[in-house]
Amino acid sequence: MVSYKELGFSNTKKMFKIALEREFAIPGYNINNLEQLQAIIIGCGESESPVIIQISQGARVYANQTMLRYLGQGGVEMAKENGYSIPIALHLDHGNSFELAKSCIDSGFSSVMFDGSHLEYEENIAITRKVVEYAHERDVTVEAELGVLAGIEEHVKSDVHEYTDPDQVEDFVTRTECDSLAIAIGTSHGAYKFKVEKVDDIPELRFDILQEVRKRLGKFPIVLHGSSSVLKEYVSIINQYGGNLEKAFGIPEEQLRKATQYGVSKINIDTDGRLVFTAIIRKILAENPKEFDPRKYLGPARQELIEMIKRKNDIVLGSAGQAKYIK
Ligand SMILES: [Zn+2]
Repeated sequence: MVSYKELGFSNTKKMFKIALEREFAIPGYNINNLEQLQAIIIGCGESESPVIIQISQGARVYANQTMLRYLGQGGVEMAKENGYSIPIALHLDHGNSFELAKSCIDSGFSSVMFDGSHLEYEENIAITRKVVEYAHERDVTVEAELGVLAGIEEHVKSDVHEYTDPDQVEDFVTRTECDSLAIAIGTSHGAYKFKVEKVDDIPELRFDILQEVRKRLGKFPIVLHGSSSVLKEYVSIINQYGGNLEKAFGIPEEQLRKATQYGVSKINIDTDGRLVFTAIIRKILAENPKEFDPRKYLGPARQELIEMIKRKNDIVLGSAGQAKYIK
């Protein structure tokens, strides 16, 4: 058993407090490998942004939970070495059982999500509450979820949107004592968020629900999952170099920015990073058919991801330059 404090991670309490006060969102970036982690640490370090490093079930299957925890720890040490003074949380994304949350807490995670959104309401409350009790005794923070997102994110699949019911949020948060709440207002996982033909047809997020939730909860951290914008320039590069991503659309960045003014304090971005990586690798390999050194394509992909992260922190999340307020 190891506490995240010994590893140099932070829980999300102070991050969210300052995010709510200053109306920005903490980025939740997912890691599966070394280059993504390096990009997140450098991108957030250089933009002086707090960051939540997320580990999903798919990542644990792909890279091993222990390996990823040590990678995260390596990220903290690298940040120090580079002179970055940013709070870093290590977060379990979409935990689906108490046992999993417990195992992550025991191995040094500073924050866990229990996603009981597919469960019956009372069952979601009961398990979330159990996770909260275990976590809070160890000063670990807990994200919960109400409402179901459409789309696909590894094991998280759903065909239907079930928007969060604002009438439930107060009761849910009071009874579970969770530290933040993921809600469904029209974001979704993956690169195909809307069944539309063109960008102009993308429906607006349900800001009415968000405002209603905000009214019930007051200044409480709200989380948006599935909030990539499915960046057009990278989709184009992928398609130009042999890919085939048709009608891939995401959440327009201005809408995400607006959401931060209504209490959204954490925004999860995974798909956009995947698109950046794939685009650069496809381009380099297509243009350099003799190349076989992975560093020659992973390195530039990592560099492009750093730039994307800095841009997102700056103009979408508003988290750039905010680390100094979270001490
Ligand atoms: Zn998610």
